[in-house]
Amino acid sequence: MPSIRPPTWKQTATLQVAVKCRPLTPLERQQGRHIVHVTNNKGVIVLDPDLSKDYLDVVQNRTKEKRYIFDFAFGPDCTNKDLYDCISSTIVGVVQGLNATVFAYGSTGSGKTYTMVGTRNDPGLMVLSFHSIFDLIKKDESADEFEVSCSYLEVYNEVIYDLLEKSSSHLELREDPEKGIVVAGLRTIKVQSADKIMELLNIGNSRRKTESTEANATSSRSHAVLEITVKRKQRTDYRSQVLCGKLSLVDLAGSERASETLNSGHKLRDGANINRSLLALANCINALGKQHKKGLAYVPYRNSKLTRILKDGLSGNSQTVMIATVSPADGQYQHTVNTLKYADRAKEIKTHIQKNVGPIDTHFSEYERIIDSLQVEVCRLKKELAEKDSQLCKKPAEKSADDELSWLNFLSRETSENVQERVNLQKALLELEETNLKNRTELQHLDEAIAKQQSVERDGAVVQALRLRRQVILDNIRDNDESGANYQKEIEANEKQRRQLQDMIDEAIRSDGNRTYLNILSQYRILGMSNAELQFEMAVRDQVIHEQREAQRGLWKMLMGLGLDQKQLIELAARQGVTLEDWRAAPSAKSPHEHHKASSPPPARKMSFGGRGLAQPHRQLFTCLCSRAGHQPSPIPFWNSPTELNSKMPSQISVSGASS
Ligand code: ADP
Ligand code: MG
Repeated sequence: MPSIRPPTWKQTATLQVAVKCRPLTPLERQQGRHIVHVTNNKGVIVLDPDLSKDYLDVVQNRTKEKRYIFDFAFGPDCTNKDLYDCISSTIVGVVQGLNATVFAYGSTGSGKTYTMVGTRNDPGLMVLSFHSIFDLIKKDESADEFEVSCSYLEVYNEVIYDLLEKSSSHLELREDPEKGIVVAGLRTIKVQSADKIMELLNIGNSRRKTESTEANATSSRSHAVLEITVKRKQRTDYRSQVLCGKLSLVDLAGSERASETLNSGHKLRDGANINRSLLALANCINALGKQHKKGLAYVPYRNSKLTRILKDGLSGNSQTVMIATVSPADGQYQHTVNTLKYADRAKEIKTHIQKNVGPIDTHFSEYERIIDSLQVEVCRLKKELAEKDSQLCKKPAEKSADDELSWLNFLSRETSENVQERVNLQKALLELEETNLKNRTELQHLDEAIAKQQSVERDGAVVQALRLRRQVILDNIRDNDESGANYQKEIEANEKQRRQLQDMIDEAIRSDGNRTYLNILSQYRILGMSNAELQFEMAVRDQVIHEQREAQRGLWKMLMGLGLDQKQLIELAARQGVTLEDWRAAPSAKSPHEHHKASSPPPARKMSFGGRGLAQPHRQLFTCLCSRAGHQPSPIPFWNSPTELNSKMPSQISVSGASS
């Protein structure tokens, strides 16, 4: 029997930004001067590094001095504990089933690892957080049971490794409709104490890929993500539920360009990919920063592993803190200003937090099982390929064998990258099309509203506000169409490359080079493709489920607005064959309607009740309720004033219009 759940409570939060300026290192003290000043624990002033400014520059005020205001700012005398105390309320929410993300962003040597991991005398945020979590659990006086687990991964050169595994294989990302982005096969260890996590953290850190750069003797070239999950099992009079909070602590690689750290040779290739992730992060921060003004602009999360992992932390269900770390040295002026520029933009980012109440449905268990087994198969084949490689390596004297080996290595690497790229491109295109579909629906509603309003007053304030909004939506559609065309071109190039690779493999099999090896490679490629197709299908299904949930949320809002009481609703629903599920789990202090009013508007949604968003019995119930309450379900928006237009998106407006 179908069922409707009440909408989940959501609260809009703004990303908090803290700046941390470290002390000068002994070398910096010898060579330069201190140019970063922190004022009133919020302001940051970066002085012009050039002391010998021309007279004219000074007179005409052409100084490079910059000033910023953040949520928190910490100078060189502050400890990690000072910073932690300011953001601890965010972190401890994880014990109440909320998600939190803290990430350190800054150039190499600016103090990211120092802030996240710290030292014995000045423990970092990772250490302080799990001490707090275990303290809270110890002091908790309820009868709730707690389970704490942790995972630790790194993204290096666009490949994900498990830092809790001795020799980790390459891990893949998967999108789960309930849990969001998950790393398939990542080890999660249950922990009973902060000391145990410390031990795991130390082991993991020793496995991180580091290298010496001019900026830092042991600079991390990878992004490390420590995830602590707290499950809280609650029992009340009528039911038991699980709250599941997740804390992600992220130590990013340096944000500067690879060439700037003076590393060389093959490591430059790594640098390019590390920066691909950071560049993608910067692009996402840019897009999200303007989104509250621009409406549905496309946010390119898919462009890197890092942004996919951080997606929830950047815009989804997470209270997020960005820590921008800077050096006070005059020689670092450009890095410092770049970091602060992104931090300044990040202040505009909004997230939508909600408690994660389980147990979690597993709609896709069958798909997951197939993908997991495919992944095991892919891993097995990869291993066989590696073994074959090492067998070939045993004949170093034969030059032709060497050539063949490097050629086979090339084929293997290219094949793998080609498959991965294809999955990402297809999913990105799907998301982009979905975004534009929503934009076009809004455009249509706007056109209708403009026509209607013009019959009342030709060029009044409402018409102008509507036209303004229409222009924004048109701009978005054009930008998104451009990105879509680029993705389409990339897909064509990817397809061309796939055909070339297959030709090369087939040719090699025919010429009997390394028949077994190539057969395996071919099999691996085919499996990779079917894996990709399955992942794509899952993404499409996720999208449909997401739409149904949104439609249900709207239906609930509608039901609340109709003023029917609980008993009437249940009776009416039962007659239509619909179970109203978890009524008591609905937020009691405020109705979802009120909660919604308290938060800022969500992105525009499609709310056509007759469309594919709503399942058949729910649609019947909706029609039945509307006729009872004497309302006509109308998808046409209804705006009363420009203020209302600005504060509501069309989907909400159409609902309130129908029920008011
Ligand atoms: P990143 O991870 O950003 O590359 P690190 O955290 O490794 O940089 O810091 C670079 C250097 O600066 C290290 O030697 C570290 O000990 C020192 N450092 C960073 N922050 C502080 C601080 N707040 N106090 C003292 N030393 C610091
Ligand atoms: Mg570091």
